[in-house]
Amino acid sequence: MPDDDDFLLLNPGPVPLSGNVRRAMDEPMVSHRSAEFEATYERAQQGLDYVFTQSTLDDHSHDSNGTSLILNGTATMGMEMAVANLTDAESDVVALVNGKFGRRFKRIAERHARVTPVEVEWGQSFDLDAVEQAVADADLVTMVHNETSTGVLNPVEAVGELTAEHDALFVVDGVTSIGGDVFRVDDWNVDIAITDAQKALAAPPGISALYVTERAADAADGDSAPFYEDLEWHLRKADDHQTPFTSSVPLFRALAVAVEEIREEGMESRIDRHRRQSQAFRAGFEALGLKRFPDIEPPTSLSNTLTAIELPDEVKAAPEEFFGAITERNVSISGGQAHLGGQIFRVSNMGHLSSAQVLRGIRTVGEALNE
Ligand code: PLP
Repeated sequence: MPDDDDFLLLNPGPVPLSGNVRRAMDEPMVSHRSAEFEATYERAQQGLDYVFTQSTLDDHSHDSNGTSLILNGTATMGMEMAVANLTDAESDVVALVNGKFGRRFKRIAERHARVTPVEVEWGQSFDLDAVEQAVADADLVTMVHNETSTGVLNPVEAVGELTAEHDALFVVDGVTSIGGDVFRVDDWNVDIAITDAQKALAAPPGISALYVTERAADAADGDSAPFYEDLEWHLRKADDHQTPFTSSVPLFRALAVAVEEIREEGMESRIDRHRRQSQAFRAGFEALGLKRFPDIEPPTSLSNTLTAIELPDEVKAAPEEFFGAITERNVSISGGQAHLGGQIFRVSNMGHLSSAQVLRGIRTVGEALNE
C-alpha cells in the first residue's frame, strides 16, 4: 500500500482526490430511493450542468437545453448507451479514430450499426476534408475530444460544424477534457457528451455522466436500447434525481462534492490551472532532453490534461527498469497503450494536484532516467 501522504498518483485516471471528496464516501448508508439520495443526485446534476455547458465562460452564446444524468458504470457504458440508443442496424455511423479510445468508440458502434471509420495514425490530426466527405452521409458521428492514449486534443468544434451542416447526430467522448479544459456541449453542436468521474472531475472511479440534449432525447429509440442502458428510462428517472436501478450511494456523494469544488474553483481558473500544469510538465520533460509525443504542430492541439513523452532509445530497450525506478519513488505514471506500449510514458495533471507535485513528477522522471 502506498503511504498516503507521500504517494503521488499521476496516471490519467483515476486521479488524486481532495480530502472532502474522500470523506464524502465515509458517511452512513442510505437507500438509493431516499430523499437524501435524491438531494445528492440533484447537487451532482447541478454541478454537472455547469461543467458540461461551461455557461459562465465569457464567449458562451447558447443556452443549455439538455439533461445531465449519472450512470452506475464507467464512461465506456456511457459511450455504448449513446450509440445503442441513437442507432439501429440500418444506421450509418462515422467513427473518427486517432487513438485507443476513438478505436473503442468504433468497436462499440460496430455492435449496433454500420460503421465507416475515418482513421489516421495514432497521435496524428484528422484531415477535415476527409471527415466532411464521410460525415455527408452519416446518421451519427463519434469522436474523442482529448485522446488519452496520445495526449492529442481533437477539433470537436470544427467537426460539430460539419455534423450540424449535414444533420448528423454528434456523440463526443469528453472523458479527459470535461472538467479540465474548454468543452461546449451547446456551442459545438454536441448531442451527447460523455465523461468519467475519475478523470478531470476528480471524483472516484465507478460512475460516469452524460449530457443529453433535447435533440438526442427525441432521437432515442427505446426499442433498440439495451435494458440496463435505456436512455429514455434513465432520462425519466434523472428528472426525479434518481437512477432506474440501484445506485452506488457513496460514489454519487463523492461526485456531488467534486463538482461543487469545480464550481468553487471556477471553470476559468480551473482551465488555466490545467494549462499551466500541462505546460510545466512539457517544459520540464523537454528540459530533461525528452521528446514530446506526438511530434506535431501546432501545439494548440496538445492536451491540457495529460502529457505523453517518447521514451529515449536506451529506455525503450528496457522500459521496465525506468518504470520500476518511478514506482520505487512512490510515484505512479502510465506507459503507452496497445502498440505504444514501451514507446511512450504518460502523466496526468487532472485532479487535486499542486504545482509542487508537478515539479516532483518531473524530478522523479529525471532521477529514474539517470539511474
Ligand atoms: N474515453 C477516454 C478518452 C478515456 O481516457 C477513458 C478511460 O481511460 C474512457 C473513455 C473510458 O474508460 P473506462 O470506461 O474504463 O473508465
